[in-house]
Amino acid sequence: MKVLKFGGTSVGNADRLRKVNELLNGDEPIVVVLSAMAGVTNSLVEITELAQSGKMLEAIEKTKELEDKHIKTADGLFDSKMYRKRGEEFISNLFLRILSRLIEGFNQTDSRNIVALGEQLSVGLFHMLLTEQGKRAAYIPALEYMRIDKDSEPDFFYIEQNLKRLMQNNPFAKIYVTEGFICRNANGLVDNLGRGGSDFTAAIVGNVLNANEVQIWTDIDGVHNNDPRFVTNTFPLRQLSYDEAAELAYFGAKILHPQTIQPCKVKNIPVVLKNTLNPIDEGTVISSMKNRKGIKAVAAKDGITAINIKSSRMLLAYGFLHRVFEVFDTYKTPVDMITTSEVSISLTIDSTINLEKIVNVLSQFAQVEVERNQTIVCVVGDFPASHKGYAAMVFDCLREIPIRMISYGGSVNNISFLIDSHYKVQALRLLQQLFPAVSVSDSTHQNIEANPF
Ligand code: ADP
Ligand code: ASP
Ligand code: MG
Repeated sequence: MKVLKFGGTSVGNADRLRKVNELLNGDEPIVVVLSAMAGVTNSLVEITELAQSGKMLEAIEKTKELEDKHIKTADGLFDSKMYRKRGEEFISNLFLRILSRLIEGFNQTDSRNIVALGEQLSVGLFHMLLTEQGKRAAYIPALEYMRIDKDSEPDFFYIEQNLKRLMQNNPFAKIYVTEGFICRNANGLVDNLGRGGSDFTAAIVGNVLNANEVQIWTDIDGVHNNDPRFVTNTFPLRQLSYDEAAELAYFGAKILHPQTIQPCKVKNIPVVLKNTLNPIDEGTVISSMKNRKGIKAVAAKDGITAINIKSSRMLLAYGFLHRVFEVFDTYKTPVDMITTSEVSISLTIDSTINLEKIVNVLSQFAQVEVERNQTIVCVVGDFPASHKGYAAMVFDCLREIPIRMISYGGSVNNISFLIDSHYKVQALRLLQQLFPAVSVSDSTHQNIEANPF
């Protein structure tokens, strides 16, 4: 069993959906996880925001635009008149649900229901296409098996029981189609796995089904060595370890949702990133296979807040760190990076939902300073402590950039540092010097480890 996930661009219009259908020709049973069509989740979020701020007419107008986009897709998608009509009816029914919610009043649960429609639309249309093409396909609604617990973690036991039951109810199917991203929460209400969460859905499904591979189909030839949105001459990496990929995903490589790797790593399932626009390219394979040492890639995570905690008393006397971290624990706020000195601790957080409360409590026993608009830049690879030269190579490139914090040695896979977000693009571009001139294959970069300095 393989799990194949297709992202927003891969399902972005009728032609693209047809191309995805053409890729599904093997004999092995597969689960296909789809995102909403590109841009649709953003539009749905915008609609809920307009509604929440009372701008109902604008919300309704935007809803109509989105409905037209899907109707146009259905018109180009199906061969027969009958299926075109069926597609249009399906779309109109779902949009009627949004409109009635907008008109009848609106709350947080309605928002999540509306945001969930993007994946329900793409999956509904794609399932109809497979049926029209005579494929043995079954629709497995994510809302009937995908569930998160009260800590917003996947409830693997529930998911496994229910997904397997739903699949067994369709024993003759060869292609099981399901929505990425959407789920129910511990209260049974419609919720989601966070933006970009369809990758995570595929990983969770792969885990509970013991899949032999999870494929993430997107719009680029696999994981690149640097962020192609800001840096030219990036190149695809052919192999990464789970730990390297997890660091990249966590520290901002948009190509993978940050939580995608873990469910596959624990079951040793390879994750293969492929390009729908260029399916013959081999892409990137992420697995437990050990590969070369050295620097492999760079990523950056924005929206970071740095907190400096200064104590007049003996800061590093035992018990103090415990006291500090207890505050973050109480407010369920993960800490990403930490550095210490004799009199102060600097740490970073990503979520600022509880920042004010955290600062209030910390201020009862320390002096606290907060700096927003920070970026963590993360250099990923395999840097054993016994090897020399990696930190020097990285920071030599960055002489022009003011660096606020440095973290090295926490794991052998990551050297990260904090800068003002203003310097992010410059830092990413400077770090591209770590990689010898343009190449289409990572295989020409073996020399980095052999002679780091
Ligand atoms: P999908 O809609 O298929 O989930 P995403 O937009 O979420 O696709 O992710 C693919 C995009 O991630 C690429 O188009 C690229 O711009 C961006 N990206 C950021 N960092 C990297 C990287 N290191 N390697 C490849 N792509 C990256
Ligand atoms: N459609 C969702 C989003 O845009 C999930 C995904 O694409 O992975 O965030
Ligand atoms: Mg994505």
